[in-house]
Amino acid sequence: MGASPLIGFLELDGGARTLEFCGPTLATRLGQTCVSLTEVLPWTAVRTLCASLPLQQSPALQAGLLDPDALTIATVHDRSLQIEAPLLKVLCSVVGGPAMQTTRHLDELVMLLAHGVSPGSASIYARALRRPGLVTLFERFVPVNEELISTVPTTERFFEDIFTGNLPAVISALAAGVDISVDGPKIFDGDVGCCLWSPLSAAASASGRRLHGPIIAALLMLARADCNRPCTGPCGLTPLMHGARSGSAELCALLVRAGADVRPRHAGTRCTALEMGTKVTEHAIRAERDVRAATALAAASRASVAKSGKNRAMRPNLKALANLFSPQEPSTGKGRRKAR
Ligand SMILES: [Zn+2]
Repeated sequence: MGASPLIGFLELDGGARTLEFCGPTLATRLGQTCVSLTEVLPWTAVRTLCASLPLQQSPALQAGLLDPDALTIATVHDRSLQIEAPLLKVLCSVVGGPAMQTTRHLDELVMLLAHGVSPGSASIYARALRRPGLVTLFERFVPVNEELISTVPTTERFFEDIFTGNLPAVISALAAGVDISVDGPKIFDGDVGCCLWSPLSAAASASGRRLHGPIIAALLMLARADCNRPCTGPCGLTPLMHGARSGSAELCALLVRAGADVRPRHAGTRCTALEMGTKVTEHAIRAERDVRAATALAAASRASVAKSGKNRAMRPNLKALANLFSPQEPSTGKGRRKAR
């Protein structure tokens, strides 16, 4: 499909119908696909059109990895990490919610920003979570305050901040680009000094005694720390094993939600994480594993329905958009294929 029918359509009303049809995220991507489309649907036009549309109340969000309320409480005393509540809520959904809902949440995020909600420190979080696209989006509204971007701490300092549950320091370190896979000090906890801490294992272990341990672990995972990476030595200690032994049911649930495998065994004791913690952590792991299995099953079923072309309720795609003004070209009738 060439871009010319699209350009003609966009020029009719300056992209208003396209924006209502696709939402801001897809409209922005559309405007970036070629020079001609960039000229008729630049980012500034998308932004202005978004501001002219009414804000819609966001529906209840599915539990993700990052709880906006807990994050707000944890950072309340740090002025450099403040974000207005509605924006933080949507940001947490964009980065930590189900992948198939990301576009919808991104649309909400752009709408809030276009309606004048200040991004606050959102670009610090976007940097910390290694989301360059989001960094660009936030900095289109408010350029980053360079003073807030700190330097990468030493490995020793980074691990100390994780073990003590110093959330603002960990966010700053992540935003500065600290290596999330860096090897830390020796474990000496369930091993004989043959293994080294990873940042995520350290956060898991600290979760039993530090209030902000689970949030730090969630941020590390959202920054792509591997939730299944075992220790560096022969013991096979996983972050979930550390979490179970710390006694933090919240942390165990987060790890399993992020995809942690429950089955690995400790090389010495042959125990899995289920047997290494308390009754409470065992219950949390089993419950979250059941939710994960049910969610995967539902997603597979949706994908199968979408593939067979029976799902008529999905949002229209760009091919459908093209058909709006090329009625002689018949629709293939296929739904969006990317559903997970
Ligand atoms: Zn070891």
